Amino acid sequence: MDGKTLEYKGEEALNELEKLTAKASDIQESILKEILKRNSATEYLSKYMEGSIDVEKYKKTVPVITYEGIQPYIQRIANGEDSSVISGHPITEFLISSGTSGGEPRLMPSIAEDLDRRTYLYNLIMPIMNQYIPGLDKGKAMQLLFVKSEMLTPSGLPARPVLTSYYKSPHFSRRAAGSFNDLTSPTEAILCPDALQSMYCQLLAGLIHRHCVLRLGAVFASALLRSIRFLERHWPDFVADIRRGIPGSIVSDPSCRSAMTAMLDAPNPLLADEVQRICSGGSEEEGRSWRGILRRLWPKARFIEAVLTGSMAQYVPALEFYGGGIPLVCTMYASSECYFGVNLRPLSDPAEVTYTLLPNLGFFEFLPLVSWPARRSWAKEDEEVVDGGMLVDLVDVKIGACYELVVTTFAGLYRYRVGDVLQVAGFHNQAPQFKFICRQNVVLSIDSDKTNEDDLHKGMIAAKKLVESRDLLLVEYTSYADTLTIPGHYVLFWEIVSTANGMNTMISLDPKLFESCCIAVEDSLSYVYRRCRSKDKSLGPLEIRVVELGTFEALMDLFISQGGSINQYKTPRCIDSADALKLLNSRVRACFFSPHEPAWSPNM
Ligand code: AMP
Repeated sequence: MDGKTLEYKGEEALNELEKLTAKASDIQESILKEILKRNSATEYLSKYMEGSIDVEKYKKTVPVITYEGIQPYIQRIANGEDSSVISGHPITEFLISSGTSGGEPRLMPSIAEDLDRRTYLYNLIMPIMNQYIPGLDKGKAMQLLFVKSEMLTPSGLPARPVLTSYYKSPHFSRRAAGSFNDLTSPTEAILCPDALQSMYCQLLAGLIHRHCVLRLGAVFASALLRSIRFLERHWPDFVADIRRGIPGSIVSDPSCRSAMTAMLDAPNPLLADEVQRICSGGSEEEGRSWRGILRRLWPKARFIEAVLTGSMAQYVPALEFYGGGIPLVCTMYASSECYFGVNLRPLSDPAEVTYTLLPNLGFFEFLPLVSWPARRSWAKEDEEVVDGGMLVDLVDVKIGACYELVVTTFAGLYRYRVGDVLQVAGFHNQAPQFKFICRQNVVLSIDSDKTNEDDLHKGMIAAKKLVESRDLLLVEYTSYADTLTIPGHYVLFWEIVSTANGMNTMISLDPKLFESCCIAVEDSLSYVYRRCRSKDKSLGPLEIRVVELGTFEALMDLFISQGGSINQYKTPRCIDSADALKLLNSRVRACFFSPHEPAWSPNM
């Protein structure tokens, strides 16, 4: 990948994609050869490879690992030892993953050229979109992007989230002007370390440019929704700023202030009136609610872009509510370990989204999850050690089968289990297209039951149907294994709003409805859960605790105050921190329990 590849546009980018996917097998092999050529002399690889760069030997001898397998090496480099412990090229920074090990964040190695790889993938997105929605280069994008503060390792290397690294890089600041890169947000606002000011300035900039915004988005749907809800509560401040032509006192960071002052330029009562009318009104048929507000505020927006798959899928109804029919688009799949791929059919429904892994970004292998999805069990469920011989190459995965993604990167991860479960939905040329199923990281367990994120999500879908039939929307949820009761039981914290009378209306809670939600969730949980509950009696009735509006924002604030990043933030689907639990419990409006045991029969 050379400098030329950084600025792919239109046709050229699409041709490149065709070539890459047509030769996925050859490209994967040459990527692995290149990684071995560069890194076989590292301490880590030479233990297994003894200097060899033979691809078959690699697949036979190098173990499949989780973070624990590489953590000691990473720690040594963070403490000052040479990068050659794991990488043939200097490690320039560590990327803080949202995955944790033993409560600690995971640090992923990164080398200078990784920024080229990330930029390369970003530059493919708009040419793909432009095939379906032309003319996107004729206006601006309101992309709400956030950084978080970074730290230095004892050896002086930066450790920060991957998006912070990217937004602070010259690859982002020196992106070609115009074309698809014209953002409403001033760079000063994106780089502002104060998340609230950053959000305020970016929303204000989006409103100022409302007539030329062609697309809206954030990296994760959660950050976008948080911003919309902030606007919903504080829109009069934005109107006042636009009317006076001066940013409000919340904008105190000097560089943000000067950027926003320049952007506001002069009092604009016309624009202020427009925004005021839209935010205060809503149409009669919308019940004067914020339903469809995004379409009214940004009338030329052609799509809303955010990650809406995996744990973000729960935000789809809320974004549909605010979006008023603007298509929701998921464009890419990436992580701190490695960027993976793109969605070649970006206008597909979020529930149908597939990602095509790009064979030149890293070496990808797949651990088959044998009885998945029928029985939702892992191939080697409780085993730490996975036989490397079980792994399948990128082009050899089978349609319909589920796999855990395993990566080998230039920066020094070798056969590393990412923890994501993917299902093969089809192929584009030789390259498989994957549906993101879940991340293997959330497990509720009280007895022999084990509930992962995907199981929980299925339960939520069942219960959501019941609340939605009453014009209520489940906007956020998390769970907790309450083992203080005897027997222990699952607790779900729910934040719900009324869609009929506007998002901020206080709703009355019908016990019958919420009891039927409890049982709907339990009925859709796993066989073992239902057996524990109905036969073994080792689990008590599932409980739903409905919390006050804004509780999950307060939860997000809590995690951010403890060092989390706003744009990598994902609501934890299971709470294990005492602080977070205290916060949730302090805001409970009402509790409801399953009125009877879930259906269970020994024959499944
Ligand atoms: P992080 O390492 O904190 O950047 O988080 C990366 C993880 O976020 C991935 O391993 C996935 O579990 C999740 N993720 C990233 N992109 C997507 C996507 N498009 N759909 C679903 N989950 C995603």
